[in-house]
Parts: sequence; structure tokens; C-alpha cells
Amino acid sequence: RFITFEGIDGSGKSTQARRLHAALVADGQRAILTREPGGSPGAEEIRALVLQGDPDRWSAETELLLFTAARRDHLERLIAPALEAGETVICDRYVDSTRMYQGLSRGDLRARVDALHSLMIGREADLTVLIDMDPGVALGRAKARATAEERFEDFGLDLQRKMRAGFLGLAREFESRFRVIDGNRPEDEVAADVWAAVKPALMA
Ligand code: C5P
Repeated sequence: RFITFEGIDGSGKSTQARRLHAALVADGQRAILTREPGGSPGAEEIRALVLQGDPDRWSAETELLLFTAARRDHLERLIAPALEAGETVICDRYVDSTRMYQGLSRGDLRARVDALHSLMIGREADLTVLIDMDPGVALGRAKARATAEERFEDFGLDLQRKMRAGFLGLAREFESRFRVIDGNRPEDEVAADVWAAVKPALMA
């Protein structure tokens, strides 16, 4: 099974992805944890190209191509072989993040995101956990841990709100694979809900 985690910056999705991975391994299942952008050596190099240095170095369109190239490498080298070997793959961000960040935040490229996805990637997650979170609280968390070497997109509250609404829209658009979890609660409670949402899919 291929499980992705999505959410706005500071939503706690990476923590929850890690916890789900640990819970699956503790349960005796074979599972790997990976992330985007990155996840394979080539894709991590592309991540550095895009997220380090001058944010205006690439146009929105070029950035979309770079993210898609990174995803293709990640899929070929890591995700697809692991799925074929029967492992569960948990990925922190995937194409839904591109639908939002490259598709919505720097212009209206959503149609091109979807076209490139069907042309060059062609694999959706089986299940997507959306950690839904108050945009202001999430922004505060993301700012607090922002590092100098990697680009932190301080969209400000308006854009953080727009991204949250966008993710909720994606959850309606792809409702059969999305599970929306309320992230505005203690970490343990969120983790318990994630486990309850994912378990039936893994047993099926
Ligand atoms: O998930 P993570 O915090 O590692 O993402 C790093 C940065 O890359 C964030 O600022 C996020 O908004 C951005 N990003 C992006 N497009 C993606 C995925 C992440 O701009 N498709």
C-alpha cells in the first residue's frame, strides 16, 4: 500500500508520518518512510536545487518540471520497487503538495500539474492522510523551526489559509483516498486517529 501525508507547513504531518511508520514496524509490518521533494539521491539533489538559494531562480513552470523530475526519480528508484516487493510505503508529501504549491501558490498551474502527472508519473497514493490544522498556529510552528539553509516559504497568513482551503478542496475532489484528521489536538490523539484511519486500508 502507498500512503501519503499532506498538510500545510507546520501542520505536524512529518511527525505523524514518522509515528505511523514506527507503529507499523512495531506491528511487524514491512514499511518504509520517505519524503518529497527528495526521497532518492537524485531527487534530494533536485530538492537542494529548488529549496536552497534564490527563491526566484526558477520560474513557476520550471519549478514544476523540477519537482516532477524529482518525483519520477523517487518513484522509479524507491517507491515502485518497494511496493512491488510488498512493502508499505509512507511518503511525507507527494503529488497533492505539487497540486497545491506549484499548482496554486505561484500562479494557476493546476491543469499542467495534472497533465504532467498523468504523462510522467501516473501513480496516485492508495490513501492520503490530510492533517488539517489551524493556519495561524501552523504558521507559528513553521516559522519557529525554519532554517537558514533551506527556503522557507513564508506565505503569510492569507496564503497559509488559501493552502488549507485548497487541501480541503483536494480531499473533496479525491474523497475515496483522502482521510482528513483534525491536527489541532495533542500529538498522541492525532496519532491514534491516523492509526484508526489507516488500519482498515492495510487489512483490506
Ligand atoms: O515538507 P517540507 O517542510 O520538507 O517542505 C519544505 C518546503 O518546500 C516547504 O516550505 C514547502 O512549502 C515547500 N514545498 C513546495 N512544493 C512542494 C513540496 C514542498 O514548495 N511540492
